[in-house]
Amino acid sequence: RASSDSGAVSSRVRVAVRLRPRNADELAVDADFGDCVELQPELKRLKLRKNNWESETYEFDEVLTEFASQKRVYEVVAKPVVESVLEGYNGTVMAYGQTGTGKTFTLGKLGEEDTAARGIMVRAMEDILADITPETDTVSVSYLQLYMEMIQDLLDPVNDNIAIVEDPRTGDVSLPGATVVEVRDQKSFVDLLRVGEAHRVAANTKLNTESSRSHALLMVNVRRADKGRHEMDVSISGENGHSSSTVGSLRPPIVRKSKLVVVDLAGSERIDKSGSEGHTLEEAKSINLSLSALGKCINALAENSPHVPVRDSKLTRLLKDSFGGTARTSLVVTIGPSPRHRGETTSTIMFGQRAM
Ligand code: ADP
Ligand code: MG
Repeated sequence: RASSDSGAVSSRVRVAVRLRPRNADELAVDADFGDCVELQPELKRLKLRKNNWESETYEFDEVLTEFASQKRVYEVVAKPVVESVLEGYNGTVMAYGQTGTGKTFTLGKLGEEDTAARGIMVRAMEDILADITPETDTVSVSYLQLYMEMIQDLLDPVNDNIAIVEDPRTGDVSLPGATVVEVRDQKSFVDLLRVGEAHRVAANTKLNTESSRSHALLMVNVRRADKGRHEMDVSISGENGHSSSTVGSLRPPIVRKSKLVVVDLAGSERIDKSGSEGHTLEEAKSINLSLSALGKCINALAENSPHVPVRDSKLTRLLKDSFGGTARTSLVVTIGPSPRHRGETTSTIMFGQRAM
């Protein structure tokens, strides 16, 4: 599928950068320091200050300042992907960045007390529910955590090692062991996300780890009846040679299936290997493995390479049918303003740059 604006195939990854506002600590401690970045949203540019006199300029598809509303972030980062999912294509929206820079705020914020604060998951579902025909179409979700190369069901925590199954013919990826819940209205969806998040906290407490050390994936499956088309919708000749036009319409309508995956990635920061918990080094290896495998895949997509190395990690195997080909992929990299984290901010920006 060609995209009208760039002429390029839609497999190209769209990359936005979002700056979190200064938090209370940064306001208190770093009050007299300049931010480590300077944003020029109208030019879609970001300047990374190396020191007081040198800076490097980077371009992104979209530059979202600390004043960007959640609504605007949704519209820029996710809406085109959601629209394409509603048309029958798969799509992925991912957030990458250091812990504390706003990945979960951007994707998973429920915004129950303040609807303006709602994040991408909630807004995406709102648009999907508004577009489908409840009589003929269905929307269902699974909510998973990927930790140390194990897929855990956030809707049913006893399911803690779900297998990925690939259809050898179509290449489609499925998770037969994962809980799938049909979503009929926005409120039940928000309730589901809340339950999933509570299970995530509980599971991670049990594993003695933090949510920032795992990836969270929301999978939204959309099945739509294509009203215009029916299976074997052809006129069949009657005995006397006259065609019977009523036969075709008795056949069930063709069903279009598509999938939106929203991925709240593990924190991209390098884990302190001296951490007191015995498993932190293993966690570090596992996160590095999956994030670097993801980086390689999105580089390959960005370069329109025919070979996307999805086999290297569970994360990329899970996303296999949701990026590349006709699928749309959108990445938001999140950064903070503090010069204390210049190193992490730089590597986040470079991850985003390599995806373009
Ligand atoms: P991450 O998921 O990347 O670790 P969070 O989404 O948990 O980061 O954000 C860290 C903190 O910063 C949270 O308290 C969150 O509410 C706040 N925050 C993040 N982004 C924004 C933003 N754009 N505006 C206001 N607060 C934000
Ligand atoms: Mg988070």
